[in-house]
Amino acid sequence: MQKMSKYYLPLAVFLFVTFILSMMELKMETSMLMINRFIPGAGWIQIALLASYGAFLVYKMQDADKSAVWRKWSWLLFSLVFFTQFALGILADERFLMTDKLHLPVPFMIAAGPVYRAQMTIMPILLLSSILISGPAWCSHYCYFGAWDGLMASSKAKKSSGKLRLNDRNKEKEKEKEKEGIRSEGELHRGEPVRQKWAWKMTFFVLIILFAWVFRMFNLKGLQTLIPALVLAGFSIGIMIFISRKRQKMVHCVAFCPIGTLVNIGKYISPFRMKIESSCTSCMRCIPTCPYDALNVKDIKAGKPGITCTLCGDCVSSCDVSAIQYRFFRMSPKAARNLYLVVTISVHVLCMGLARL
Ligand code: SF4
Ligand code: SF4
Ligand code: SF4
Repeated sequence: MQKMSKYYLPLAVFLFVTFILSMMELKMETSMLMINRFIPGAGWIQIALLASYGAFLVYKMQDADKSAVWRKWSWLLFSLVFFTQFALGILADERFLMTDKLHLPVPFMIAAGPVYRAQMTIMPILLLSSILISGPAWCSHYCYFGAWDGLMASSKAKKSSGKLRLNDRNKEKEKEKEKEGIRSEGELHRGEPVRQKWAWKMTFFVLIILFAWVFRMFNLKGLQTLIPALVLAGFSIGIMIFISRKRQKMVHCVAFCPIGTLVNIGKYISPFRMKIESSCTSCMRCIPTCPYDALNVKDIKAGKPGITCTLCGDCVSSCDVSAIQYRFFRMSPKAARNLYLVVTISVHVLCMGLARL
């Protein structure tokens, strides 16, 4: 029975993804699946592949010890699929493009676009739906941009631990420090809070909305809007490369991106939560596992992660006393985590598969 139970979540994701995509394939006039644009009728193969991938992913991620690694790599794959499709659409064949209209694939455009055009577009609707269904999972599973901030935030940590492996003297020093309760250099980077992040977030949010509104007022078009947007996109990438990498935290996502700010505020419409129980011993071991700067001493003492928590789950296995737990109404923490995995991984796979939006 125990052995069988590890297949429940994969089965749930497989059936859910298959059901939703099959309904869309049968009911919609224009197929949403990419493969049908090249090989008509092959959408059913794509559905089977996507559902199997979702089942495989949840099978791996149900093990809390492995979930952070699988989340990171599956999120990167998601982003690679998106950008490869985008590049092929521009350079090779426009059937690869997700929409008929070309737009700059940077998250701040989701907020700036509707203000500039004074009309709702599909992306804000998708964002709101995702928040309703799975809270902040947009910023840990579905965003094509944030995956790279996550990669930058973890790249230096990997490198520095690599150095330590090569250097025995350093390794011994690290061990001594650990015995004395002093955290390693990498942990210290991750342990330091991102100061004034709300001031930064709100400033960038207001500025982006203001710029979009000014561009609309002055009826700026073409290069007049493209150049500032490209500069801002470059600025976003610069934050990832130079700050997130150094601080080993997703500084772009927690202190700059206006969509992250919307997600942080809007996530409370979803009933999913992450709590720190009273069994917490204040050992602070979980602090360096959080790339979103949501586990600082103050947050732990308050009994819940900070507002930038995306419910990514990377911290869950770091707690020896299982004090960090998912919550969903009165469900047990385990059931709440399982439900969250099924929902987020299913949506992740659906977003990956839908080609025409
Ligand atoms: S904060 Fe912005 S860039 Fe980061 S994951 Fe969320 S939407 Fe994407
Ligand atoms: S939640 Fe767990 S890992 Fe974090 S401080 Fe408390 S006991 Fe330590
Ligand atoms: S507190 Fe835990 S679940 Fe929340 S963002 Fe940090 S690592 Fe992820």
